[in-house]
Amino acid sequence: MSAGATGKTNTAGLEFEVRPNPRPTPPDERAALLVNPGFGRIFTDHMVTIRYSDTKGWYDARLEPYGPISLSPATAALHYAQEIFEGLKAYHSPDGGITLFRPEANARRMQLTCDRMAMPRLPEEEFLTAVRLLVERDREWIPTQEGGSLYIRPFMFATEVFLGVKPSSEYLFCVIASPAGSYFAGGVQPVDVWVSAEYTRAAPGGTGAAKCAGNYASSLVAQAEAIEAGCDQVVFLDAVERRYVDELGGMNVFSVYGDGDDVTLVTPPLAGTILPGITRESVLALAGQFGWRVEERQYAVDEWQADAESGLLRESFACGTAAVVTPIGRVRGADLDFTIGGGAEGPVTRRLRETLLDIQHGRVEDTHGWVHRLA
Ligand SMILES: *Cc1c(COP(=O)(O)O)cnc(C)c1O
Repeated sequence: MSAGATGKTNTAGLEFEVRPNPRPTPPDERAALLVNPGFGRIFTDHMVTIRYSDTKGWYDARLEPYGPISLSPATAALHYAQEIFEGLKAYHSPDGGITLFRPEANARRMQLTCDRMAMPRLPEEEFLTAVRLLVERDREWIPTQEGGSLYIRPFMFATEVFLGVKPSSEYLFCVIASPAGSYFAGGVQPVDVWVSAEYTRAAPGGTGAAKCAGNYASSLVAQAEAIEAGCDQVVFLDAVERRYVDELGGMNVFSVYGDGDDVTLVTPPLAGTILPGITRESVLALAGQFGWRVEERQYAVDEWQADAESGLLRESFACGTAAVVTPIGRVRGADLDFTIGGGAEGPVTRRLRETLLDIQHGRVEDTHGWVHRLA
């Protein structure tokens, strides 16, 4: 899909108007920003927006200059948090092309999130066109250094101006993009995690499986507690028994048993309280390819501790789009403190991370049909 300098781009349903930024960042300024972009503070020259109303359906799709959105103070999302998002990355491939990793999976997951949040589904085709248009237009913003990527953030929120409590009749879907340096620039650092005794993330029947802003808002105090305790991330336990590992604030969790060819991965099941991570699903697929066993089952924090202390448990790791696959070195909590695999990264974690990164960056053949090539 490509669009001229200005004009319209057609997809199956919607026409995207293209309004190039008349004052794009000068190349030398952009190059300076891309030297050390960090994460989530620098944005490209454009964004894509699509509006929705109950009467018109999806309309006014456009690629336009990145910039502020003006909202009434009575905009529904600001009051009742009907706001959802996605996250995925674009990469340079060694042959000079650009790739996206499993964007269809993000499009489908956003639809499931929409269902849970009483929001209209954006068709998959429109989601993919929006992402593609933005990445192709702002391709110069994809960092070229080792491990760099363009983080893409699609999101959607309620724009009806009304303080009554009900699903909004109007929405704005938007995609922005932010260059990101390698998460592993300083080498792979195992993270220390903090098991929250006081706070939970998601209860049965709640929004744990939806990628909605509210889940993050409610996790922040627990994340702050983890940082206060000197840890990097918080681990949430199940809300009913406060016994089973659910996930981190924004990453899924795995534990590794066995070694060599005899490896078993254990991860909590998708039973409604954890987010169905695309990285999680990719790890499960790679495990199958490597001939490893996989157990999706409840995993008690007691079992985690006992097996780490006995040495039966070899490795644990967290996974998600931003941090890919990151080893967990130590687990702490109010009356909990144990080290996993001597606090260093193990071979299973490393193999999964390197394989995923190689596929994402186009360095090895993608036998799973995960990589989506752009023009
Ligand atoms: C986004 C997210 C993940 C990771 O999902 P990926 O698709 O792998 O990036 C895990 N947990 C939560 C709570 C999330 O919001």
